[in-house]
Amino acid sequence: MYSTAPLVVLGLGANLGDPVGQLREAVRRLRELLRVEAISSLYRTAPVGYAEQPDFYNLVCLARSALEPAALLAETQRIEREMGRERSFRNAPRAIDLDILAMGDMVVDAAGLTLPHPRLHERGFVLVPLAEIAPGWRHPILRRTAAELLADAGELERVERIQAFD
Ligand code: ATP
Ligand code: CA
Ligand code: CA
Repeated sequence: MYSTAPLVVLGLGANLGDPVGQLREAVRRLRELLRVEAISSLYRTAPVGYAEQPDFYNLVCLARSALEPAALLAETQRIEREMGRERSFRNAPRAIDLDILAMGDMVVDAAGLTLPHPRLHERGFVLVPLAEIAPGWRHPILRRTAAELLADAGELERVERIQAFD
């Protein structure tokens, strides 16, 4: 007997170069790494935290993977690096950002990896696409669904649906 691999929720963002092209390339590479089950629409969003930069393009992706959290993080960081991501500061402009939002019900609080992502419930660019494709997804700590987190989040940054991604 083996059980289904945990549901992995990934948040993708880009706001430099050709952001939509980079999101497509990142999804292509993610498909080589894990079993992608759903991809949200493409959204254009106002930058959060550091305003003096271009709008972001964001999407959320649901996938299955048997990789351990640290191994998946190493792989997503490799993709970021190979796609020309330069490490600078939190919320800085970037060619590609791959955040692991959650892996099943796992709760991880390690130096380089926190699961679920500690800021996911405050972010329109996460909650709107997540509620689109998985409104019933439940936050492993807050015990609220994506739809509930979105309804409770109060005023969020501008989040505009552009088009279906595929
Ligand atoms: P934020 O995490 O607020 O979205 P950011 O994406 O701009 O900010 P980065 O510079 O991409 O931040 O990442 C900083 C560090 O966050 C990474 O080196 C990574 O080790 C760590 N990290 C912790 N938890 C996670 C996670 N769930 N997914 C991705 N990176 C994480
Ligand atoms: Ca991020
Ligand atoms: Ca990141």
